[in-house]
Amino acid sequence: MNIGFIGLGNMGAPMASNLAKAGHAVNGFDLTAPCPEGVNQVADASVAVSGADIVITMLPDGSTVRTVADSIIPAMSAGAVWVDCSTIDVESARAVASQAVDAGVLALDAPVSGGVVGAAAGSLTFMTGGSVDAYQRALPLLDIMGQKSVHCGDSGHGQAAKICNNMILASTMIATCEAFVLADKLGLDRQAMFDVVSTSSGYSWTMNVYCPATGVGPESPADNNFKPGFAADLMLKDLRLSQDAATSVNANTPMGQRAAEFYEEFVQSGGSGKDFSAVIEAL
Ligand code: NAD
Repeated sequence: MNIGFIGLGNMGAPMASNLAKAGHAVNGFDLTAPCPEGVNQVADASVAVSGADIVITMLPDGSTVRTVADSIIPAMSAGAVWVDCSTIDVESARAVASQAVDAGVLALDAPVSGGVVGAAAGSLTFMTGGSVDAYQRALPLLDIMGQKSVHCGDSGHGQAAKICNNMILASTMIATCEAFVLADKLGLDRQAMFDVVSTSSGYSWTMNVYCPATGVGPESPADNNFKPGFAADLMLKDLRLSQDAATSVNANTPMGQRAAEFYEEFVQSGGSGKDFSAVIEAL
């Protein structure tokens, strides 16, 4: 396929590279980042998307995606598919999808889980929102960049799934860290705590796979000086999105709200640039 790829940062570059390695013709554009090997660098976004069967964007936030939408939608061929993999607010995702559909372009919001490691390994999880037609057309490319895709429903539902997942993840991480701090103060050995909880009803991904306690459980950022992994700043971004969404639909999310406040304080008081599991140090 002919692919236009816009946003070649930490996530976009390895994703575009995997598409090129699989034999697709990829035209790439980024304001600052260079194109990875195998991706043909072009002068602007509209050139990257012109004649493309599928366009993929991997951008920082909703306002950037809205700006890029204005320049790429008019340049895309009717019937082409635009897959936005950025994590953005549900409202922007729905607005740009409707703008695309009005211009005869199929649109899919397809945020990812799996981070830079998953992007490089082609093992991301995609959560998608949009028409079944758009999803089926994009699926062969999602299968190259990831190992699992879920069609969650209409436009915006991929973003909804992403922020709900990360709201759970943040609250669970804080709870896991708190439990280790309490265990320490009660004199309970961290390894014993892990052995019990990881096989009891308090188990979770944050305990079993991504344990925030150094030297315990599988290797995680806690064993690498809390180098991300998944940066606290990105977790804060997603928590803000989840709380904005909760406010917009009047959903009661007290734990999510507290988690957002907690990561806000953490990022402002030295946690910026560290993995999100480093909150154990702040506690
Ligand atoms: P990044 O900042 O490394 O990359 C974003 C890229 O977009 C940059 O290279 C920037 O120059 C480019 N860009 C910005 N405005 C542009 C424009 N108008 N035209 C063209 N290029 C433009 O960010 P990232 O870590 O690659 O994350 C991208 C998205 O993926 C974000 O929405 C993020 O929340 C999400 N995400 C990131 C991770 C992660 O672990 N990094 C995990 C899951 C989801």
